[in-house]
Amino acid sequence: MCTTDYTTKEISAKDRRHTLHPWADLATAPVKGDLVMTKGSGHHVYDSDQNKYIDGISGMWCVNIGYGRKEMAEVIAKQVEELVYYSPFGAMTNPISAELSEVLSELTPGDLNRVQFTTSGSGAVDSAIRFAHFYFNAIGKPEKTHIISRTESYHGSSYLGASLSGKKVDRTYFHYMTDIIHHISGPNLYRRNENISMSAYCQQLVDEFEQKILEIGPENVACFIAEPIMGSGGVLIPPPGYHKEMKLICEKYDILYILDEVVTGFGRLGHFFSAEPVWEIIPDMITCAKGLTSGYQPLGAVIISDKLFDQISGDNAPEAAYFTNGYTYSGHPVACAAALKNIEIMKCDNLCEHVRDIGPYFIEQLKTLEQYEIVGETRGSHLMACVECNISSNKAAAEEKDMIAAQTVDAFCEQLGLIVRPFEALLILSPPLIINKTVIDEIISILARSIEKATVALKSQGLI
Ligand code: PLP
Repeated sequence: MCTTDYTTKEISAKDRRHTLHPWADLATAPVKGDLVMTKGSGHHVYDSDQNKYIDGISGMWCVNIGYGRKEMAEVIAKQVEELVYYSPFGAMTNPISAELSEVLSELTPGDLNRVQFTTSGSGAVDSAIRFAHFYFNAIGKPEKTHIISRTESYHGSSYLGASLSGKKVDRTYFHYMTDIIHHISGPNLYRRNENISMSAYCQQLVDEFEQKILEIGPENVACFIAEPIMGSGGVLIPPPGYHKEMKLICEKYDILYILDEVVTGFGRLGHFFSAEPVWEIIPDMITCAKGLTSGYQPLGAVIISDKLFDQISGDNAPEAAYFTNGYTYSGHPVACAAALKNIEIMKCDNLCEHVRDIGPYFIEQLKTLEQYEIVGETRGSHLMACVECNISSNKAAAEEKDMIAAQTVDAFCEQLGLIVRPFEALLILSPPLIINKTVIDEIISILARSIEKATVALKSQGLI
């Protein structure tokens, strides 16, 4: 029997008995049926009961070129036959990962020309931090170990990545590294004190950063890590000039700037990397994953500047010190072949230009949803957006009933054929980059109808 021949109930039963999912709610009894996805094509996905959905979240911010691309299947199959794997350790390599390193160096700004491959975004973040520590030890500044991150950030689910992440709801019964990791406020334009101007708000965030550095001692701070737009934390767009100002502070105190482009990389903001064209900065390292292969294979990477690498390699290499960071599957030939084909498809189909063209339309159309009383704000940039529900009228923080509102809208969206990602009071949207204006109109229409139905339901429950 083929796995797809099982009924939804049978698949659910196996899964519920044996799988531990990421972000599993351990208390939830199986009251609501599981969503079992079995097929994808273009911007659509299909469940095990043959229901069709517009995938408003690209799987998990990743299937940028859309589902079911035959060219991807062919290139992956060919690489499996040719050379499925060989060790990447030390001086061993394969032609595919070497080529992808060169291609990534060309796509990243400035002198970011040194690539270490990982198998995930978390691995890329871990590797960036480990590189920062190795670098400062190697150049004789071993006390530079501290890392500054932000509240509401998300940097992965490894021990280090989870410790860097600042979302309160993600911090549960685990242990976290706290001795060298610090969190400062992340930007939240919606929930900020509206009595201060945007530029004063930006300055406040930058001042808090500098204050934190001085508190720890600049001689102890190794790096700052930031998502260009905080994705999982709620599509939080920084005030104008924020990244530039934060980068200047880093330069002032010899602190490395790690830009986590795991979500924003590979076209979501209309560029392969947003660092230079959108934020006008050249960071010391960029981390990426997700859209790197459009989810066709698991792959991540950290791209490091020559300036850093040259100080610790060749004649400058520290004595008898191997860079002992990396994975069995770093530079996996099949994953790298998928990434190369993905980049080729993105270039041939002009997907970055396409996103720059239709992105503003998406954000504009989302704005029309602000007419509904349960919507507090819609925000985003290009194909990275969210709807924030607010029925409590509390601008300082989302309340329980705002979250119920978002969950109710989410349930109606699913019924009407649209997958969005609920998180607290938010409905997060990150559709495949191949969508066009007609699909955008469909997404907005389903959202509008779901919001209307949710409003009726919330009123009948006495929540509004
Ligand atoms: N960094 C950012 C900004 C992310 O959004 C994510 C995942 O959502 C990660 C890192 C971790 O990536 P992964 O889940 O591939 O380990």
